Amino acid sequence: MMSDDFIPYGKHKVTDDDIQAVVEVLSSQYLTQGPLVNKFELALTEKVNASYAVAVNSATSALHIACLALNLGPGDWLWTSPITFVATANCAIYCGAKVDFVDIDASTGLMSIEALRIKLEDAKRRNRLPKVLIPVHLGGSSCDMKSIAGLAKEYGFFVIEDSSHAIGGYYKSEPVGSCKYSNISIFSFHPVKIITTGEGGCVTTNNEELYKRLCLLRSHGITKEPADFLCEKSEPWTYEQHVLGFNYRITDIQTALGLSQIKRLTSIVNRRNQLLDTYTRLLKKSSADLLEIPIDVKSSVHLAIIRLHNKSPEHHRRVFSFLRSEKIGVQLHYIPVHLQPYYKGIGFKEGDFPLAESYSKNAISLPLYPELTNLQMQRVVETLDEAIKNDF
Ligand SMILES: *Cc1c(COP(=O)(O)O)cnc(C)c1O
Repeated sequence: MMSDDFIPYGKHKVTDDDIQAVVEVLSSQYLTQGPLVNKFELALTEKVNASYAVAVNSATSALHIACLALNLGPGDWLWTSPITFVATANCAIYCGAKVDFVDIDASTGLMSIEALRIKLEDAKRRNRLPKVLIPVHLGGSSCDMKSIAGLAKEYGFFVIEDSSHAIGGYYKSEPVGSCKYSNISIFSFHPVKIITTGEGGCVTTNNEELYKRLCLLRSHGITKEPADFLCEKSEPWTYEQHVLGFNYRITDIQTALGLSQIKRLTSIVNRRNQLLDTYTRLLKKSSADLLEIPIDVKSSVHLAIIRLHNKSPEHHRRVFSFLRSEKIGVQLHYIPVHLQPYYKGIGFKEGDFPLAESYSKNAISLPLYPELTNLQMQRVVETLDEAIKNDF
């Protein structure tokens, strides 16, 4: 059967325990704004070793309120990597700020510290320094956060880690999300990510003031906390809106799933690392290399991204199409954001970030998810080798 043969690039796993946890909430008192949201946030702070977590309805919302909490606004610049999902750049535009990109390191696919340093020096001369930098932990590998934190201090910008791929990963033995080298970290719980809540995301931070702003922004800018009221005498029904916020809340139904899933985080990440080791072995003789994982990093292995040795874009297209036609659900993570029609429309063009562009012309994400079997991985690599060989 065709659907049985198809190997997708990613696939969520929902266990009987997960289903039980969700079913229980459905007959409880709260479907939303109940106790499970806070419980999920506590579990997150413990897993990632951060003081505070604010769970929201997506990582896109998390990015938006993270930028607002840092007062990003008109006249400000936000910099990120061109090799990311569009949401990482869009959050700047939501705030009326301007976006620019920093090219990548070819071997890891992560933001290049050297390119960042050069761009900062130039921006300083032109009085165009960014207010916020968002490094992206592509595929689950942390960026070089220590260097980034050093530059943040030197040039005076805030750092939001886009950790959408990286929950369960480590950088210098610290869990990603601990914010040891950043102001804020954000996560996604979309089904294709490491753990899921259906749709969902969260923000972590160690700064109490930021935490309070994030909580306000998540729910209409409203507080129900009498200690925070601005009025002199509050009534029993008083609630106050202090800033312009949104409804970015996550539900108890979703967080029940998240709580059940997060219990398996360590085993999921270990399994993903094991699968990557198998790919590494299988790909030894192939004309393609997996992206390098920097030293000091334990990746959560969200993705298995290879780069083809043959740098011709036509070769890339044909290998990619052949794999798809053989029912192997390969993907490209990502089309460089600056080459999206919307971003071209605001002034970016081909050639702006050459390493990101050449990356997108020979990168392929191979299927990787916990239930993938060795046999399936063999089929993926054999088909890849055949595609490459046939194309010479
Ligand atoms: C998935 C993803 C997002 C957006 O996540 P949502 O939860 O779908 O809003 C942002 N950044 C990166 C790098 C992602 O992979």
